[in-house]
Amino acid sequence: MRRLWVGQVDSGLTPGLQVCNLRTKAGRLGQNAAMKILIVEDEAKTGDYLKQGLSEAGFTADLVRNGLDGMHEGLAGDHDLLILDVNLPGLDGWQVLKALRAAGRELPVLFLTARDQVEDRVKGLELGADDYLVKPFAFSELLARVRTLLRRGRSKEVERLALADLELDVLKRRASRAGQRIDLTAKEFALLELFLRRQGEVLSRSYIASQVWDMNFDSDTNVVEVAIRRLRAKVDDDFSPRLIHTLRGMGYVMEIR
Ligand code: CA
Repeated sequence: MRRLWVGQVDSGLTPGLQVCNLRTKAGRLGQNAAMKILIVEDEAKTGDYLKQGLSEAGFTADLVRNGLDGMHEGLAGDHDLLILDVNLPGLDGWQVLKALRAAGRELPVLFLTARDQVEDRVKGLELGADDYLVKPFAFSELLARVRTLLRRGRSKEVERLALADLELDVLKRRASRAGQRIDLTAKEFALLELFLRRQGEVLSRSYIASQVWDMNFDSDTNVVEVAIRRLRAKVDDDFSPRLIHTLRGMGYVMEIR
């Protein structure tokens, strides 16, 4: 199946969404029906695409195209989740997020950031966002994050990911194993975060490349192998049990074996 990337949308997307529509129509009055999502996105194509996709997945999706409207809608308080672009005209995403949190609005916030802005991700999480996606991303990825956030609800605790004695503090950007602090580069951190979020799932090299390096193609995934080797040297080589496993011809999986 052709993969759709938000932010790289073209005229080819409509048939895919129509197929999706047929599949989900029956579920419209299901559990998603009451869930209202606010999208704040100034890029017309991306905004329309998200609104359409989320509607067809059974959510009620409202779209506004600037930060000021986003803040007013968010403050009105009838949404269950906010999808917030960072670069917006007028008020930017950070100002919107600050205003909402200052007013005590606790809805989960998923923000959308431009490629490779690591500082952005840290800043957003520090300001009280719950998750982020780097553009361009696959719609299926957004949908998975949205569902997870809605299930989880807004949590005030610091987000920690863990497997065995390996721990990752997403907010403080700290990793440790068996209580020992491990220094990671930004890419290694992103890679480890991906493994921990998807523990037990087989991740292909091209998928990892798309998530961590924003490369949407299958070529040159050697960079993935090199990074995984480095990550293993830091989190696995001196510890037991080993957590990152290679599945020849398929990819990698993080799990306890
Ligand atoms: Ca924008």
